[in-house]
Amino acid sequence: MDVCTSGYAYLHAASSELAIGNLGIKRKESEFNERVCNIPLRLGLPTGYFLKNEDALTGLTDRLKRIVGPRTTLEKQMRLLKNAIEEGGFPNVQFTTPHSLLKDGYSLLKDRASYQGLIELYDFWVLMLIGLACEGLLEMSLCKFCPRWAIPGNKLCTQHTVKCDLPSSLKTTVSERSKNYRLGRLVASRYNYFFTEIPAEVKVSATTLSYYLQCFLWNHSLSVRKSLREHIQHQIDESDRIKEWLGVNLADLPVNDFFQTLKDNIDPYEFRPSVWKWKLKRIRLWLRFEEQALSQPKKKATKSWILIVKASGLERKGFSKAEIAKFMKISPSTISNWLVRYNENSISDIVETQVRKMSNKY
Ligand SMILES: [Zn+2]
Repeated sequence: MDVCTSGYAYLHAASSELAIGNLGIKRKESEFNERVCNIPLRLGLPTGYFLKNEDALTGLTDRLKRIVGPRTTLEKQMRLLKNAIEEGGFPNVQFTTPHSLLKDGYSLLKDRASYQGLIELYDFWVLMLIGLACEGLLEMSLCKFCPRWAIPGNKLCTQHTVKCDLPSSLKTTVSERSKNYRLGRLVASRYNYFFTEIPAEVKVSATTLSYYLQCFLWNHSLSVRKSLREHIQHQIDESDRIKEWLGVNLADLPVNDFFQTLKDNIDPYEFRPSVWKWKLKRIRLWLRFEEQALSQPKKKATKSWILIVKASGLERKGFSKAEIAKFMKISPSTISNWLVRYNENSISDIVETQVRKMSNKY
């Protein structure tokens, strides 16, 4: 998919995937149309057809491409768009993050939705901006330290970055930020040994982008299962630190405010209600590690624990105890001592049991 038509394709997929309860087909069509800003209608194509037919999307994007004209290539249009951006052709569009670009691009597209005329080059460019924004979203990564999203274009989240030109950093001083960074790095050095895997539904990928877009663009029309909200509320109730971050009691808030408060206070780039379940669980484990890091200045215990975790990694790769000892430059009796002390048969068992104990506690 090229960036020129991907903007529409992503919007199309997100809107047609969004099942709308028991609404009749007419309502479904009109909601679909509203969400894609009347693009099919403005291309002179019937909407109902698009909701169901996959080939229809190809037909539609082909028609979009034809608007560019037979004598110009898409690449040339892309260059023209770049020039237009550089010359300030989109004064109200913020190109700082994929999120701001998407928000502003989509609002331009919405402004054009009521135009009766056929689609023009300008609409096409706006769709390109949306395509670029979506591509930016696909590059998002989690913070190098913790389970929050990294600020787009950065490796760290709003909590751990030391950059001071961000809106979220206004509340903290430079020294507070360096302290957060140093503590984050320390906690990450232990936490990341255990929790490197990220479930596919948490990542933003070609398959999960639709849901992310739905939550980002049409948040207010999404329904959230009662059990999901209860689960998340339970996680909040169990953690004093999370309650402290949120500052307010979420239990009485309307559902949209509930998730907005989580987003504002914990992770400004997480828009998906269902992902908060995983995120809060991981953040609570993270906090457990943080508490341990703060309450354990006893270097010796910490040092031996890091050795144990390293050794268990080698053990899982199939190295024998003698090989591990040699590789890590420790004495074989150190490994035997660990097994005796923790009463386990293998080094990985030690790590697993300890992690399970921690997870149960928090
Ligand atoms: Zn972080």
